[in-house]
Amino acid sequence: MNLDNLSQDECQRYARQIGPGVLTPEGQRRLKQSSVLVTRAGGMGGPAALALVMAGVGRVVIAHGGKLISPDLNRQVLGCEQALEKPRAPQFADYLRSMNRHVEVEAIDHEPDDEQSRQLAATVDVIVSCPPTFQERLRLNRAAVDAVIPLVDAAQWGMSGTLIVVAPGRTACLRCVYPEDPPFEELFPVLGAISSAIGSLAALETIKILSGVGKPLYGHLWMIDGYQGRSSSITLERNPKCPCCGNVGVRHPRETLRG
Ligand SMILES: [Zn+2]
Repeated sequence: MNLDNLSQDECQRYARQIGPGVLTPEGQRRLKQSSVLVTRAGGMGGPAALALVMAGVGRVVIAHGGKLISPDLNRQVLGCEQALEKPRAPQFADYLRSMNRHVEVEAIDHEPDDEQSRQLAATVDVIVSCPPTFQERLRLNRAAVDAVIPLVDAAQWGMSGTLIVVAPGRTACLRCVYPEDPPFEELFPVLGAISSAIGSLAALETIKILSGVGKPLYGHLWMIDGYQGRSSSITLERNPKCPCCGNVGVRHPRETLRG
């Protein structure tokens, strides 16, 4: 097995995920060389960041503002009772670091604005978007489109969730899919079990994109209705007049855009 940029410790750590049906040695090396931004790192973003760290993504940047409060703990797996009333981002980052000494974890203790999102997008290979508000999702979509990097967008409500994977210039972006902002409910219902499921699947999509293994979900919306025990997928069409991605061609596709 040729894993020349990985230490013996790392080869041992990842032994169960390299082989038929999972990663190739080259895919594992690519993960180590990759950077991912996950924002936010709560119900969906927390499990997503955790899965990326455990899989060996070389650099994971998490962004999440505010202090941990009791209602967060029905779904925010990077938190714990002892962290209540403490700032979320450094607590979450410490937990992530405790799970894998071979990766770099950076924490941003607020939600990035337009400019910072653009700056961050220029330093990562994929954005995993897990905010509760559509405005934040759109901001990350814009940042990914401008940087021409893939966006994995995760959303949840109740016992259901959706995933969209965007390859800017090639597949529909979030604005193509939602020309109008959907209604927003401040304290929408959500169960931690679906948050974790959607977050883990967002990480899976990211790992496929970065490693070059498997078939990413590009150009589809995957809906998981946990309440009814069903899932479905629809093909998404790009809007050539989309105000966000309408004039984006494949200007400088990165190596990670494939599938
Ligand atoms: Zn678009």
